[in-house]
Amino acid sequence: MAQCREAAEAALSHHHQRLHGETLGALAVGDVALYTDTYRSLLLDVIKVPAPDGFGLPREQWVEQARARFAEMERALARHADELAAVIVEPLIQCAGGMRMYPPEYLTWLREACDRHGVQLIFDEIAVGFGRTGTLFACEQAGVRPDYLCLSKALTGGYLPLSVVMTTDEIYAAFYDDYETLKAFLHSHSYTGNPLACAAALATLDIFEQDDVIAANRHKAALMGRLAEPLRDHPHVGDVRQTGMVLAIEMVKDKSSLTPYDFRERRGLRVFRHAISRGVMLRPLGNVIYWMPPYVISDEELALVAEVTREGLEIATADA
Ligand SMILES: *Cc1c(COP(=O)(O)O)cnc(C)c1O
Repeated sequence: MAQCREAAEAALSHHHQRLHGETLGALAVGDVALYTDTYRSLLLDVIKVPAPDGFGLPREQWVEQARARFAEMERALARHADELAAVIVEPLIQCAGGMRMYPPEYLTWLREACDRHGVQLIFDEIAVGFGRTGTLFACEQAGVRPDYLCLSKALTGGYLPLSVVMTTDEIYAAFYDDYETLKAFLHSHSYTGNPLACAAALATLDIFEQDDVIAANRHKAALMGRLAEPLRDHPHVGDVRQTGMVLAIEMVKDKSSLTPYDFRERRGLRVFRHAISRGVMLRPLGNVIYWMPPYVISDEELALVAEVTREGLEIATADA
């Protein structure tokens, strides 16, 4: 199994592994060869450790896998704590990295280790924040808080671009002083605090408060799980994994060894093309087909998504 996982990971390296954005700092802490290679000489020197990843494993084994991976994080922290500014992770799901998922325990251990080593912790919840994983923020499932929380995307319901970086009172206070000390944190963009975007965000937050969005999502997530269950038996589906309202179906060439399809075959594109002809948007990440529907999706629409996914899988894997 270890070899299969290695092969799968090597295949995935042709795609995004982890993404935190494309400005220079964000590029440096990400791992997207396609984007980073061009800018290599401009990027910060960062330390990367292998991410926890339940791919191909039954959920009962996710924690064990995460524990093994955490040992590498712990080693990196022990060795480099004095030169580290912070650790950055995407809680529970590496989204652009192929919808790879891991259990909340990893975040609990990470918080403890960062505290022990005096290293700050950044959670990038740009993709997973605002109810996507079953709680308002993914880190709630681990019962921990980061020193910095990055939010965007669903903050405005996707209607306008807006992002925020939240931090602790302690860090805020470090920059709060009399004007003459020049301690203020000055780093902004022309459209910082754009009123229209903020109005969209406030309207979105009102909806979270008024409609019980998180509870409705739990119902929809359960339905997604039931609809995807039959896909597990497909001869070219190597993994079906779910965290809240993200469900990923990974196509493989060989199911028993989890050998991936060569990324150049673009199997995902075949699924995409079929789905779009049926009015369903299934944007693939290489061999990974995923459902990350808007929260307003109806049960009937989810059933259609499942039906179209099955058809797309048949078409995409018919010749292998
Ligand atoms: C989309 C995304 C980003 C990048 O956001 P930009 O607005 O493009 O900078 C960063 N992190 C994660 C986890 C994302 O999904």
